[in-house]
Amino acid sequence: VFVTGGVASSLGKGIIAASLAKLLQARGLSVTIQKFDPYLNIDPGTLNPYEHGECYVTEDGAETDLDLGHYERFLGLYMSKENNVTTGKVYNTVITKEREGAYLGKTVQIVPHITDEIKRRMMLTGKTGKYDIIITEVGGTVGDMESQPFLEAIRQLQWELPEEDLMCIHLTLVPYLAAAKELKTKPTQHSVQTLQQSGVHPDVIVCRTEKELTPDLRRKMALFCNVKPGHVIQSIDAWSIYEVPFNMMEEGLDAMVCEHLGLETKEPDLSGLKSFLKKLKNPTKEVNIALVGKYVELQDAYKSIQESFIHASAATGCKVNVISVHSEHLEEGNAEAKLGNMDGILVAPGFGERGLEGKIVAVRYARTKNIPFFGICLGLQMAVVEIARDVLGWKDAASTEVNPITTHPVIDLMEEQKSSRIKGGTMRLGAYDCRLKAGSLAHKIYGKELISERHRHRYEFNYYCQADMERAGLFVTGKNPQTGLAEIMEMPSHPFFIGVQFHPEYKSTPEHPQPIFVAFVDAAIKYKENHA
Ligand code: GLN
Repeated sequence: VFVTGGVASSLGKGIIAASLAKLLQARGLSVTIQKFDPYLNIDPGTLNPYEHGECYVTEDGAETDLDLGHYERFLGLYMSKENNVTTGKVYNTVITKEREGAYLGKTVQIVPHITDEIKRRMMLTGKTGKYDIIITEVGGTVGDMESQPFLEAIRQLQWELPEEDLMCIHLTLVPYLAAAKELKTKPTQHSVQTLQQSGVHPDVIVCRTEKELTPDLRRKMALFCNVKPGHVIQSIDAWSIYEVPFNMMEEGLDAMVCEHLGLETKEPDLSGLKSFLKKLKNPTKEVNIALVGKYVELQDAYKSIQESFIHASAATGCKVNVISVHSEHLEEGNAEAKLGNMDGILVAPGFGERGLEGKIVAVRYARTKNIPFFGICLGLQMAVVEIARDVLGWKDAASTEVNPITTHPVIDLMEEQKSSRIKGGTMRLGAYDCRLKAGSLAHKIYGKELISERHRHRYEFNYYCQADMERAGLFVTGKNPQTGLAEIMEMPSHPFFIGVQFHPEYKSTPEHPQPIFVAFVDAAIKYKENHA
């Protein structure tokens, strides 16, 4: 099943693909999703969040598009390297093969060589034999020059595969013009025309809309866009993305897909998601949690963290107001004004110098005011720096990422990183084990000794200062069992102070909320009760 999009970006193709997958999975089918992105970067690992939102990391250490996060959260399945392909990866393979002489003197062209490589990758996941259905989302918008080879590959597959094995879903926008008091279908008509010019014919059109589509409008679009009546459906703005599967079920999207593909299944069972939504909608408590980072003005930069709080909110029955606090504008002088009303403070991951001092201010505020603190990756690193500076009095303590000549390199480059100059794909990436210290806060939170979480960093806690840090009250309570690298640090004298070198947010799902997020929200609830 291919999912393309038109009219505008950010319509939520990823959520539609994930919702459809969820419904098919809930019918007892085995489903996975892959995303093909038209840009030339090999992966989004080197892309600035301003360009691309969050970079999502898989178990096997691939740096991928944030839609893969949605796929995992909806399906409760792990994606891997193969699930995210970019034009950069495709060209890289073709050009490497050309240099090896694999094309035997032929002129190497977009058609057939690039399109063949795209088709090979589109079919790869299916070759495992593990799935009944593979949903392939094509990034970008039809009509983009970069999308052309992907649409051409789908066009060819329409001929190569039996008709009942392949289906195309096209997502468009039906804007509401307030002045005319009307929903407008023309952009959808144009978008489908553009798709058809590439030789790809949609079987279903999903219309993003703010208002209900009338039967008349649906019929009109079906007629002009040459699809079956009834195959124009709406995706109306939802209160939560986790409601979209229910909306798609009501519109009959999963039933259309099963019918087209000739699959007989039971009716979908969405009871897990349903009870999650029920809890999410009926909180009995409320807390404010500061998310301190330098990209907080971007909706997508901390996607997985935001989602983890939604999962933790349902788990605790507590509405979590995640308040963005821009680390670049946070200083000693305004900390009280910006953080005084918070029941918990999370310092976000990040790279580089901008906004770093503000993160240190946030740690200090949480530490000295006994407010629950949770530091992720750079957030943990800045907790170490803060304590080194303020408690130990090492005024120039720093991470060598921003100060390579500090006399107190409390956070330093990992040994294996020292020789690497290449930026793309060279961090410590993906899942690593971590052994928790018996009796630690982390141990209590996870309820077991051996855990595994995903990573994306180059720097780490520098053990040379471990004895001093312990004297200052900060202890390593989680370690990688093979390398000894510090994974978790805590301050037992504080009601809740924990920093992790990994990214727990990548593994949180509605049905399996991440335990540290749940414990952090619980700590915030307690803090609020004690300060009422
Ligand atoms: N910049 C830090 C490092 O590379 C932290 C990375 C992060 O927060 N993901 O170690």
